[in-house]
Amino acid sequence: MKQMSDTAPLASGATQNWVSLAAMVVVGALALMSLYMGFQAYGNEDIETAFMYMIIGTSGFIAIGYSFFRAKPPTKRSLEVKESEVITTLECPQCNLKRVRAFQRGDYLFKSDEPCTRCEGNMLMTRIHTRKDEKKK
Ligand SMILES: [Zn+2]
Repeated sequence: MKQMSDTAPLASGATQNWVSLAAMVVVGALALMSLYMGFQAYGNEDIETAFMYMIIGTSGFIAIGYSFFRAKPPTKRSLEVKESEVITTLECPQCNLKRVRAFQRGDYLFKSDEPCTRCEGNMLMTRIHTRKDEKKK
């Protein structure tokens, strides 16, 4: 199978997104099919085959998740909101310390990020929003 990472660099952002989306759909379908075959083999008590299909299916889903987080379309976001206008709220689940900082690439909801400044806990991202939302309060 061809690796999906070698999409043409010449393609425009939109085309590239479309291509990677199509690749994701194909990989997703293959992964689903592998899982299905795995369950069938499992039903036939062919554990080895089932295990193999499960691994193929699971790694397919992992590949999708991985490329989804890596290949976030940067062009689209910078058109809509500048990154500096997006704010991430961090909260410590242990001592409830709240902290707000500018959004950084790679932030996502409930990601455990930096260590808490007050206790030994880890800050959790509880909110990602724009500066406009903040003013409404
Ligand atoms: Zn804390």
